Amino acid sequence: MMKPSFRGSLGIRHLVCGSCNGCEHEMNALNNAYYDITRDGWDIVASPRHADVITVTGPMTGAMRAPADQTVEAVPRPRVVVAVGDCAAGVGPWAGAPEAGEGAGVVLNASVFVYGCPPTPDAIRSGLEAAAELLSREDVSEASVSPARIGVAVWSAPVDD
Ligand code: SF4
Repeated sequence: MMKPSFRGSLGIRHLVCGSCNGCEHEMNALNNAYYDITRDGWDIVASPRHADVITVTGPMTGAMRAPADQTVEAVPRPRVVVAVGDCAAGVGPWAGAPEAGEGAGVVLNASVFVYGCPPTPDAIRSGLEAAAELLSREDVSEASVSPARIGVAVWSAPVDD
């Protein structure tokens, strides 16, 4: 696949899969005057059709499983799923609870994991930068790296292209 011409822009579609909304509070801060991701050409978009990256939070509830799959499928390829928060990585406070899944990021095969309960806006930004870096590779179909902790983000799976 040819390298996509993102020119630094990034469309981000957020998906809540059973989060307590703590992670959403930190994500919302990305749009405030201090973090202001729009200065970088990044935008949280309303439709998955406009997205390059899907951020997911929460342990994944049963009710969200099918809608989450449909949302990811609606994002044009190449696309990257970023798991935000410990719950999405399957290690949050509700890990192992009967109603909790394995983690939204685990279930949706995320390429980037941002740990924290909740992670800070800076940590989430690092995860988004990791996603942008994966999408900017010459051949995104080969954008696969071994699990390795890089700051707050862990790349664990290939880009879904
Ligand atoms: S990681 Fe923490 S803040 Fe985020 S959804 Fe889970 S419990 Fe809430």
